[in-house]
Amino acid sequence: MRSPKNQGQVCDVVAVAAIRVMQRCDILASLSATPGSIERTYLSPAHAKANDMVQGWMREARMSTWQDAVGNIWGRYASSDNSAPTLIVGSHLDSIVNAGKYDGTLGVLLGIELCGLLAASGTDLPFNLDVVGFCDEEGVRFGATLLGSLAISGKWQDSWAELTDTDGISLTQAMQNFGLSISQASTAALDPASVRGFLEVHIEQGPVLESRDLPVGVVTDISGARRFSLVVEGKAGHAGTVPMSMRKDALLGASQCIALVEEATKRFNVLATVGDISCAPGAANVIPGSVQFLLDIRSARDRLRDRALDWLMAAMRSHCRKRGLNIDSIEIHSADAAACDSRWQRLFEHAMRDAGIEVNSLASGAGHDAMAMAGFTPMGMLFVRCKEGISHHPDESITTNDAAVALDVLTRAVCADADVAAPI
Ligand SMILES: [Zn+2]
Repeated sequence: MRSPKNQGQVCDVVAVAAIRVMQRCDILASLSATPGSIERTYLSPAHAKANDMVQGWMREARMSTWQDAVGNIWGRYASSDNSAPTLIVGSHLDSIVNAGKYDGTLGVLLGIELCGLLAASGTDLPFNLDVVGFCDEEGVRFGATLLGSLAISGKWQDSWAELTDTDGISLTQAMQNFGLSISQASTAALDPASVRGFLEVHIEQGPVLESRDLPVGVVTDISGARRFSLVVEGKAGHAGTVPMSMRKDALLGASQCIALVEEATKRFNVLATVGDISCAPGAANVIPGSVQFLLDIRSARDRLRDRALDWLMAAMRSHCRKRGLNIDSIEIHSADAAACDSRWQRLFEHAMRDAGIEVNSLASGAGHDAMAMAGFTPMGMLFVRCKEGISHHPDESITTNDAAVALDVLTRAVCADADVAAPI
């Protein structure tokens, strides 16, 4: 199947589509709980407005639309084959508090433009092409992430009904206020046999593509993270009376532990971060008696991450023991790495080559809806360069040209997939 890009004037059409995507990212940025900054959490009035807006744009692209049982918004560019499977393209419409404009929204809007290009060229695909705007990737309101994509991949948990937001509103109540019923939530699940794959285009949220001077890159894996709360226990005492040789200073012990975290990243080539630390009793003239800190460790390879973790925990215990300190840890989060489907990686690579873009790939250190879709259907991701790697921040920035390249590569990959799918 020929990509619309190869049909005469469509190169300009892609450029115009990218300009529209950027304008629409600006419009979605204005649909926020807080004027002047972006805050669009699950089941909020801003979420409802974003769904309405995106639904209107889907209809403009001649797609049929619906909202599912958990609040994901959908549009379909239908195949003429009624029994055809479905390829899903999308990302999320929710945001963190004080977010950037492109995280999530870019992938949804590029999907709509893809359908618009196909409709304009009269392309009949051998599969339905569905675009989804997921309702809750960030997990800001109820603390549980990826609710929209977990629901459609059949992993909705009934226990989530009792989750509450900071105002004490339960997920059950919030869904009701939104016009949904939590008793129907599990019906959002799709039949995996009817789904051909899932593609997500997303800003990189890191500096790698910019450092390579490349607009887009193929994602190989999404790293799996484990998080721990660690407590080092020593003995508080007077800063002026206890000799240095007789102290059990929890903060000195914790400092060595944190230095070991960096050592583990070098030895095992993983990423690890201590992003929060608190010290008690917490006074200038008191020897720290107890220190609590949070560790996040991640890698695209679970076994490597776990080996690094084993080494790190043993080393931290050994250092604490030498100082007469105790160290305890509680695991507070664990997610496995998700490998992107190799066939989709090849299709994106061919598409980049055809588009004259240097083929390159990178792993994702951040979680995405595609993680929830992995294992449910073959999943592929394409990253788009963002300025200075800044994300989850109002300074998040991409160029119109990079959005156009991403749309071009996505379109070529989908059309190449159509070539190998059963002909209509
Ligand atoms: Zn995102």
